[in-house]
Amino acid sequence: MNKRNGKKINPKYIFVVGGVMSSVGKGVAAASVGNILQSRGYRVANIKCDMYVNIDAGTIRPAEHGEVFVGEDGIEADQDLGNYERFTGNDCVRDNYITTGQVYQEVIRRERNLEYGGEDVEVVPDIPNEIIRRIKLCQEKNNAEIMVIEFGGTVGEYQLLLFLEAARMMKAKDPQGVFFIMVSYLPTPKLLGEQKSKPTQFAIRTLNASGIAPDFILCRADRPVSSDIKRTISIVCSLPEERIISAPDIYSIYDVPVNFEKENLGEVILKSMGLKAKKKDLREWIRLSGKIRKITKTVKIGIIGKYFNFKSCRDTYISVIEAVNHAAWSENRKPEILWIDSEKYEKDRRSLHELDKLDGIIVPGGFGKRGTEGMILAADYARRRRIPYFGLCLGMQILTISFARHVLGLKDANSTEMDPKTKNPVICTMADQVDKLKKKQYGGSMRLGACPAKLAKDSLSHKAYGRAKISERHRHRYEFNNFYRDDLEKRGLRIAGINTDLDLVEIVEVKDHPWMVGVQFHPEFKSRPLDPHPLFLTFMGACLKNKGRRKN
Ligand code: GLN
Repeated sequence: MNKRNGKKINPKYIFVVGGVMSSVGKGVAAASVGNILQSRGYRVANIKCDMYVNIDAGTIRPAEHGEVFVGEDGIEADQDLGNYERFTGNDCVRDNYITTGQVYQEVIRRERNLEYGGEDVEVVPDIPNEIIRRIKLCQEKNNAEIMVIEFGGTVGEYQLLLFLEAARMMKAKDPQGVFFIMVSYLPTPKLLGEQKSKPTQFAIRTLNASGIAPDFILCRADRPVSSDIKRTISIVCSLPEERIISAPDIYSIYDVPVNFEKENLGEVILKSMGLKAKKKDLREWIRLSGKIRKITKTVKIGIIGKYFNFKSCRDTYISVIEAVNHAAWSENRKPEILWIDSEKYEKDRRSLHELDKLDGIIVPGGFGKRGTEGMILAADYARRRRIPYFGLCLGMQILTISFARHVLGLKDANSTEMDPKTKNPVICTMADQVDKLKKKQYGGSMRLGACPAKLAKDSLSHKAYGRAKISERHRHRYEFNNFYRDDLEKRGLRIAGINTDLDLVEIVEVKDHPWMVGVQFHPEFKSRPLDPHPLFLTFMGACLKNKGRRKN
């Protein structure tokens, strides 16, 4: 129990677990639950629990894990934290992210320090107890009235058991304070044309085997759930029908909170927790979701990446896509994103001409040599053809290399990441990274999280932000080499942002170009649907100008 405005609060805990299968939007559902409860006047915090033994997501291959979302404090987390931030506006930090690895590491650390007082340390209850301690710590630090805790994976997975056990133990201690939402999936097999609830029934029974009964079922499906199906599920899990919520596929993820409220989910959850709505204010979200639906005009953005999974890199660059969406919508445009595999330009330079058909291009973050030569060619093409270019982290380094090669004439300019022996390392290893790399200390060791920068008065970036001091999130090991700064500046590369403490270049801009900007940070993490990021907004403005120019 802790206090808010001098009053004692009994926090409530809502666990969100997946049934039937993954990738049906559990993260967006958990973020939306946070959103609607917040819109009812409650202070909410979200947590993501991932089952893997990794301490964080930072060491997992991008094409395998998807985006690594970076928090203000530098946590390298699961992409769902990005959904929480975008839907609730609350910044996420270390406390909002729990993995099996973190839990075991802490329990073993304490055991080595004799903190268990000579007792034997058991998987149960010591592991669930550590999970509970972390959940409660996050609640206390945020003074949250309601915690929404999402479990990664699906019921029935072995590695989920200890997390379910933690939730069950919390429920047993505080039956009025702990609730469960199951996000399930109802398929409609083509042959039958009829929606089936059996997989959901099995998932409920599997959850029951862990001593947990769901309080609400969110039924993800390609269509709304019929009242017959609601009735069947309600009988199987002994719940009133109002707690079985239809969650059909929708036009945009930002419709989800609005849709949930159409089913009265906020009211139903609060009522079952014995709480009353303090207000109801989803107006801005309703307006946004209505606006998105009506947009017909498009803007064509090419994203030049290398982490292809099927035909796109969607999962790896989810925050980039969302930041593009936010900026495009505010200009009443629907983005048409083209995924371009940079390696293609290495094999066939002529295909670079396809970039002329685009309104603008983005080169996003990435690691390692593969594909970078193609990106460097694309950056040069965009510079020569005056196509708006936005480089994010690696994309800024690519811009710099490309400029050094093609404008300064340093043919072998490169980053020491791509070619450790290059004679012209215009991008070099950060001083504090040399030793870490030698010792193979890869985990959580990059330059991470929020850092300040100062912007040059005459820059595009200063104009975009409307101020000189900014703070943005970072995740990198390599940096702009100040040795080349004067030469590059003389040839038309504007040094638009500097971290004055480290004398580190944070933003470069090509002067003789409508909009060619590279940033050493990741602005995409701070863009919100109702508050698009200023750099993405001005990039979008340049893309639309380019669109107009090409039509004339
Ligand atoms: N690989 C580059 C570096 O480590 C860029 C990192 C990124 O794009 N996040 O500096």
